[in-house]
Amino acid sequence: MQYVGSQVLKPTHDGCIIKHDGSIIKSVKGEIEMENADLSTLDGVGPAIASKFRSAEITTIEAIIVTPPRELSEKTGVGFNTVLKIVEAARKSSGLGFITAEELWKKRQEMLKLSTGSKSLNELLGGGIESQAMTELIGEFGVGKTQICFMLSIMAQLPLEKGGLDGKVVYMDTEGTFIPERIFEIASGLELDPHETLENIFLARAYNSSHQCLLTGHLFKFCPENDIKLVIVDSMIGHFRSEYIGREHLAERQQKLNSLLHKLLRLTEAFNLPVVITNQVQANPAQFFGDPNKPAGGHVMAHACTHRIYLRKGGQGTRLAKVIDSPSLPNNKVRFKITEKGIEDAKEQIKKNEG
Ligand code: ATP
Ligand code: MG
Repeated sequence: MQYVGSQVLKPTHDGCIIKHDGSIIKSVKGEIEMENADLSTLDGVGPAIASKFRSAEITTIEAIIVTPPRELSEKTGVGFNTVLKIVEAARKSSGLGFITAEELWKKRQEMLKLSTGSKSLNELLGGGIESQAMTELIGEFGVGKTQICFMLSIMAQLPLEKGGLDGKVVYMDTEGTFIPERIFEIASGLELDPHETLENIFLARAYNSSHQCLLTGHLFKFCPENDIKLVIVDSMIGHFRSEYIGREHLAERQQKLNSLLHKLLRLTEAFNLPVVITNQVQANPAQFFGDPNKPAGGHVMAHACTHRIYLRKGGQGTRLAKVIDSPSLPNNKVRFKITEKGIEDAKEQIKKNEG
């Protein structure tokens, strides 16, 4: 028998560990020791508190550091003052506090870039989709947001030298548009094992906005335990738009959306991974000239997302992508296309009157 906190564990013949509730902790000794060490090495965390944190799915020091203390206290039932002390100990143990710009520069050197499959789209994104950041794909129906997400779910599994992240993927599907056959088609087109590719994507089907919040909360435990290197939310705002109708509910909707977006942002920092979300457009009746559409979600969405990419249809079945907001990328645009192999470069150049 092995013990993790207060939980009794059973080792299986192949070295996996089964918890008393029947769930399997995938990898062997190393990870268990990590899990043990993580919380109980902190000042003020005894077995009882460690167990409360684990029940609330807060299993790593990173998760403690990035979650607001009030939320930790509500989730675990541990008193606010005790939580403050634990958070302080967690911050001290990881050395997080004031850091110099040089240290930040070093942290950003650990940033990974995920290839989209299209060279020009990668260039637009400064080399690919960044970890430690949230990238938002915006555009009208059928423009290819989901297709890019499918492609990224496959590319993320490739080794680093091939533009991947060498890991697994969480795909949160809020609209029921995840099509495994399409993943199969793209993976086969790229000469990858389609079954293995599908096996490495964990699908989370969110049925409403509160389910979406709940699933997002689980990610702080699920990601480190399952070698998750990319999180996708397609679409971020669909449920919020359909559930909170009318001006009187707008403030509440925006507050919930904001809290959810910040959870995702914390996830990118805690586990050095990219979060990619999709967003719809809404008509702006006040716009007389140019594109009458604007991204949904207002200022809340605009502030939370690190890089905002606007997609639209181009000539000859191609697509155009433009950076509309980013702290590090210029507002350029490129053309790409959607094929049976996923996302690829388009041969055609962008014309002056396009985009
Ligand atoms: P929505 O807002 O409705 O979710 P979306 O932006 O997610 O829209 P997608 O579903 O990603 O749109 O894009 C659908 C488009 O992708 C199709 O209209 C088609 O042009 C293209 N597409 C889908 N499958 C293939 C394929 N096998 N080969 C080529 N193009 C494809
Ligand atoms: Mg879609």
